[in-house]
Amino acid sequence: MTAAAERLICAIDTADLDEARRLAEGLAGAVGMLKLGLEFYVAHGAAGVGSLAAGGAPVFLDLKFHDIPNTVAAAVRATARAAPAMLTVHASGGAAMMRAAAAAAMRLADPDTGARPRVLAVTILTSFDDEDAASVGMAGTVMDLVRRSAALAQSCGLDGAIASAREVAMLRAECGPDFTLVAPGVRPGWASADDQKRIVTPAEALRQGADYLVIGRPITRADDPGAAARRIAAEMAEAS
Ligand code: C5P
Repeated sequence: MTAAAERLICAIDTADLDEARRLAEGLAGAVGMLKLGLEFYVAHGAAGVGSLAAGGAPVFLDLKFHDIPNTVAAAVRATARAAPAMLTVHASGGAAMMRAAAAAAMRLADPDTGARPRVLAVTILTSFDDEDAASVGMAGTVMDLVRRSAALAQSCGLDGAIASAREVAMLRAECGPDFTLVAPGVRPGWASADDQKRIVTPAEALRQGADYLVIGRPITRADDPGAAARRIAAEMAEAS
């Protein structure tokens, strides 16, 4: 696999196991990771995740944990069966919850390789605007809230954050080179924007400092998902 393809994550947003398997097979060697979220997990659980991972692609388990620290730590430990390369927690769960998640992930480290899930923070949901944030009692603009919650996540030992296209440059500057930034909302020039409002191209997202790009429908709805992923990875390679 090319270095660019390693940084491409395909969002498998389906509850249909056969469809997910078909996609995972078609994308083998063309993307670095498969992102599975609540929709898939609620329907098929760790066994379903394991059956996709059997094809060899690392899994990004995007379940956005948010609960008391003890419960989130237990949930992180319980991902061991699915062995994700990355997982997500809400920064709004607070410092103690994030520290508990980071510590639980450390304890999952493979004794030989040291491999463990990387824990990423969801800062502020991109469906939130300033008014939504104020209505649930959050003080400040969404941009300020994103900056503060990413800084908190970093201070709690999290490995990185999900950063929307409009946040990635700011977070790279704030959090330094070692904080993993994963950017969704990316669209190659030839693909439809779907319902993504703030889109950037793969090259632009990489230039702004993203480590990984999450792309769903331009790959999953293509006639040939593997070919679409390879075309995106080629665009990414030109950018670097
Ligand atoms: O199909 P598409 O490329 O829009 O899929 C993007 C994926 O990234 C989806 O799984 C979506 O839920 C997720 N996502 C996003 N914007 C965020 C965070 C996650 O689109 N800010």
